Amino acid sequence: MKTQEISALIKEQIEHYEHKIEAHDVGSVITIGDGIALVYGLNSAMNGELLLFPHDVYGMVMNLNEDSVGAVLLGDDGLIKEGDVVKRTKTVVEVPVGDALLGRVVNALGKPIDGLGEIKYSKMRPIERIAPGVMTRKSVNTPLETGIKAIDAMIPIGRGQRELIIGDRQTGKTAIAIDTIINQKGKNCLCVYVAIGQKNSSVAQIVQRLKDHGAMKYTTVVSATASELAPLQYIAPYTGVSIAEEWMEQGKDVLIVYDDLSKHAVAYRTLSLLLKRSPGREAYPGDVFYLHSRLLERACRLSSEYGNGSITALPIVETQEGDISAYIPTNVISITDGQIFLMSDLFNAGQRPAIDSGLSVSRVGSAAQFPCIKKVSSSLKIELANFRELESFSQFGSDLDENTKKVLRHGEALMEVLKQDQYSPLTMERQVIEIFIAQQKYLDDIDKKEISTYLDKAWNYINNSYHEIIDELSKTKKLEDALRTSLKKALDEFKESYGG
Ligand code: ATP
Ligand code: MG
Repeated sequence: MKTQEISALIKEQIEHYEHKIEAHDVGSVITIGDGIALVYGLNSAMNGELLLFPHDVYGMVMNLNEDSVGAVLLGDDGLIKEGDVVKRTKTVVEVPVGDALLGRVVNALGKPIDGLGEIKYSKMRPIERIAPGVMTRKSVNTPLETGIKAIDAMIPIGRGQRELIIGDRQTGKTAIAIDTIINQKGKNCLCVYVAIGQKNSSVAQIVQRLKDHGAMKYTTVVSATASELAPLQYIAPYTGVSIAEEWMEQGKDVLIVYDDLSKHAVAYRTLSLLLKRSPGREAYPGDVFYLHSRLLERACRLSSEYGNGSITALPIVETQEGDISAYIPTNVISITDGQIFLMSDLFNAGQRPAIDSGLSVSRVGSAAQFPCIKKVSSSLKIELANFRELESFSQFGSDLDENTKKVLRHGEALMEVLKQDQYSPLTMERQVIEIFIAQQKYLDDIDKKEISTYLDKAWNYINNSYHEIIDELSKTKKLEDALRTSLKKALDEFKESYGG
């Protein structure tokens, strides 16, 4: 062989040399601490990629620096030390999805934590995904019934909507979300409850409540409690929405609750500061808006060509002293389609659920509201606003004219009707009749304390003697003049018997 041939051969060999192990797929730990590892030598690592540390501890790439990558650990960082070998996995974080998750409690990585054994899943999904585009969506057209009078009447939610529940601590935020889940029984809507940064005991209580009301059958709970690492709290909502997305793509309706996004933002802030990202307003990193927008954008109603599924999102945000102009509240208010604002004053005064009808709105849900409930509640918000205005005035003087007294009495009756106990969602038909009773001033001369008894008895009366009215309401979902007249007649009759 000539030397030329040999060198050509060698050249060819070099060209076609397949490098099985690339040097930049393995790196080593430079520093480790607080659940954050700085790794040298992973030049081609991707953002969000899973890294394998010794002792089967996984980490997720969060920072791509020029000469190193920053990763957050999803396991015990005490097992890792400087100089340890780190391998790329070339996959992003994925979680199990599908019907096997119904009735289960899982952690942020989709692993069961309810002691009911392994989850037999057949599919995994990456936790981060680009939200469905505008062309694949359509507007909301089906109500998501919460079973809570004040919400279904004044702040209706449609399937595919994002409605924020916001208020100070201990104002009944979680209660609204849990009641809504309980009310989805038999309504063809699967539920995902994501608990972020809560106490273990509260999550256990919620799961027990859901079980007691038979709601775990169609619900998955994703839990990253306060005792867990910040990275797990950070990914928990994305895990939850990935589970929901699988069902949505099968054409199903899903309700997801994020309880709560304030703690989620705090977990992300912790991570970011440890990763040495520069702090901005309220020490949150600059991309904290994107944190929640990319999460909530994944809730939508898909159009018929894409299977007609939906994800309704109920994010929860905690305020400090009712301040809705703080950073995280304003962000999430601007991302969602409305908010249910809960006031501690109302809550402490015994008005529960403590919904402030003036500050609460639903920007799209009325398109999906049942016509009958829309009809009886159309003037509710204005009447309540009038009442509140007069109420604050009337505190100063006692000599009120008869007209003012009337408005006040009517307002008080309305407020009383909107009170509702926890774990007792009402059917649409019952809501319509109760609000109709209040709106038609049947309650204005009834003692405040007696109103709930009156409503119970009125409902029983109609249920026993005029069941056809209820049947008609549930069949047509409308309250036309004829039905309205017969309902009024029935209620007149009841009022007479009640007085006597
Ligand atoms: P936190 O800020 O601690 O998460 P929260 O705003 O989620 O609180 P909840 O835990 O839902 O509030 O409710 C606070 C308390 O009020 C609970 O003890 C709950 O049982 C009670 N509560 C909530 N809603 C009602 C209601 N409609 N009727 C009676 N009690 C209620
Ligand atoms: Mg709560």
